[in-house]
Amino acid sequence: MKGRLLVEGGLVVADAASAPQAADLLIEDGRILAITERGASGVDAAVPRIDATDRLVIPGLVNGHTHAHGGLGRGAVDDVALEGFLAASPAINGQRGLDDLALSATLTGVELLKKGCTALFDMTTQFPLPTTEGLHAVAGAYMRLGIRAVVSPMLADRTLYQAYPELLSSLPEPLRAGAAALKATLPDACLAAVDAAARDWPFDRSRVRPGIAPTIPLHCSDEFMLGCARLAQAHDLPMQTHLAESKMQAVFGEQRYGKSLVAHLAELGLLSPRLSTAHSIWISDDDIDRLAAAGVTAIHNPLSNLRLGSGIAPVRRMLERGLRVGVGSDGANTSDTQNLFEATRLAAFLSRVMTPDEDRWINAAEALRMATEGSAHALGWGDRIGRIAPGFEADLVLLDLAQPIYVPLRHPVRQLVHGENGAAVDRVLVAGDVVVDRGRVLTIDEAQLRRDAQAAADRLDALNTEGRHLAQAMRPWVSAFCCGIGRTPFHVHGGRPLDG
Ligand SMILES: [Zn+2]
Repeated sequence: MKGRLLVEGGLVVADAASAPQAADLLIEDGRILAITERGASGVDAAVPRIDATDRLVIPGLVNGHTHAHGGLGRGAVDDVALEGFLAASPAINGQRGLDDLALSATLTGVELLKKGCTALFDMTTQFPLPTTEGLHAVAGAYMRLGIRAVVSPMLADRTLYQAYPELLSSLPEPLRAGAAALKATLPDACLAAVDAAARDWPFDRSRVRPGIAPTIPLHCSDEFMLGCARLAQAHDLPMQTHLAESKMQAVFGEQRYGKSLVAHLAELGLLSPRLSTAHSIWISDDDIDRLAAAGVTAIHNPLSNLRLGSGIAPVRRMLERGLRVGVGSDGANTSDTQNLFEATRLAAFLSRVMTPDEDRWINAAEALRMATEGSAHALGWGDRIGRIAPGFEADLVLLDLAQPIYVPLRHPVRQLVHGENGAAVDRVLVAGDVVVDRGRVLTIDEAQLRRDAQAAADRLDALNTEGRHLAQAMRPWVSAFCCGIGRTPFHVHGGRPLDG
């Protein structure tokens, strides 16, 4: 937005750890210019105003890790562990055209906005190969929607079966031959597409910027990871990888590299403030120390971690050892929702099954900080979003305090983190522009979006029938392999008992 705007009379959460104060927010050219006592802004009566009476005003939530392609994949993933999901993902994400990529991103963005999230790190995929057009289609969808985003292609130069030859050999014929014949993306073509997309980025980078995401270290050769890092450096791209999300990754990581995944990434020189690590479950205290010392941000994704049975990240230990932590929803295909309020509540509550020591539980203020300031660093915007403070972007969410969870009102942040499910989201502003008004997204026709999504899902499901049958045939073998690794003793505890 251009010019000035006054958001007046709201109960403003400027610091998650302190009691919110009734205040006016003066916004200029999309940024917060001043926070003043109610009625004390002294601005001209001609300045447009938003009445925030009976509203809790919080910084827009920041989603540190999701996948745009999950939007069109809702409901397609069975009760499987991570590797079972990855084995099936070509059948879920295949055959998509540019319109499908944009549609899936729009579906993801719409749910995020409606649930109070104003920015996301999208680790996005285009099967079989990322293209400049595909990345621009996704970015264009976010621009039209009015949500802030990092569009970060999910890259690998190895297939699942090249990453885990042991899994391949566990398959019977003819499944083994079929899996062995799968081709990984050609690394040079992949990096060239990202290079071109980032070089000729046609969008305002302060709103939607390019990123890069070597998806899982074991799925990427060292040379490929280094190629990604070079591009990140050259184009100033935030970089993200899935780190030790599953026990399988951690176990085979040590076997391959003779050291932990984190130690290996450190040796390659990949740990830096530019990097964020999604999940980070099966990591030791030494790993946490390495990540913290390098200024990495870990992204906690409790929804999908539970859905896929991956484990529970050691979030308290991360915070105690100085590692910055953000919160992500992960894709709508493996967490079934983009509701960051729910992910934030789980971040708080899951810490309580890790220890009986109440002082080490994640409290409401810590959880809210992670879902705002913490995630913002993963997007490379730690100094611009995630806080209500002068100089920060006016990315704001107004929550209706008449909703039952706020009645009576005693401790707004606690009531928010422990109780909010998005039902109280009244208005959402991005850079001072209202994009959600009384729960309705203003930038899109939601009824049309629903029709388009159903038509695309029906068409894609028909096109992917063969792939789905192959994935179903593969499933018992992949499950048996994962289960075997899951029961193998390992020196790092990923928050999951061996058998429950
Ligand atoms: Zn993910």
